[in-house]
Amino acid sequence: MACSGCGGVRAFRSSGKIRLNANGRRLDAWLIYKCRACDKTWNRPIFERRAVRSIDPAVMEAMQANDPDWIRAQAFDLDALRRRAKRIDESAAFEVRKDIIREAPNWMRLEIGIAVPLPLAVRLDRLLASELPLSRSRLGRMSGAGQLRVLPAEVDALRRRIRDGTRLVLDLAGEADRETLWRRGAIASAR
Ligand SMILES: [Zn+2]
Repeated sequence: MACSGCGGVRAFRSSGKIRLNANGRRLDAWLIYKCRACDKTWNRPIFERRAVRSIDPAVMEAMQANDPDWIRAQAFDLDALRRRAKRIDESAAFEVRKDIIREAPNWMRLEIGIAVPLPLAVRLDRLLASELPLSRSRLGRMSGAGQLRVLPAEVDALRRRIRDGTRLVLDLAGEADRETLWRRGAIASAR
């Protein structure tokens, strides 16, 4: 949308913060977004002139504490967002967290389990290419050679949007860099 700070049509990202304004028994609540270019804020209404007593106390508490899980759920409420924003860049609206479940000495195979708590329009190959040391074309070649398997198996799995519960098995026996480059990609965020 048009940014009142730098004047251009800009992408905005959620700041993860809620702003509240109580006026008597009425409450306004906004989720604050920031222009990606100049950090100028845009306040997206969550509640407008809402009677305080009609607000669930748990929601009230989440807003007052800037509860990250509650705010994330609001940020990903795309139907509500669509009423306020002209265009939604879903691919920009996610973060990646990585945990090592188990690591064997001299490992040759990398298994990745994907958890997607909220629906996300990001292709699997885009996600992998942004997080692992390989290009999308290399991904396609590894898949063709059987070095990369996506479970459950489905046609064109790499081109589909990422889904909760997907598992990936990469055979890296031929990769000299697996202990450094691949390991780093597997555990550290690229952003
Ligand atoms: Zn701006």
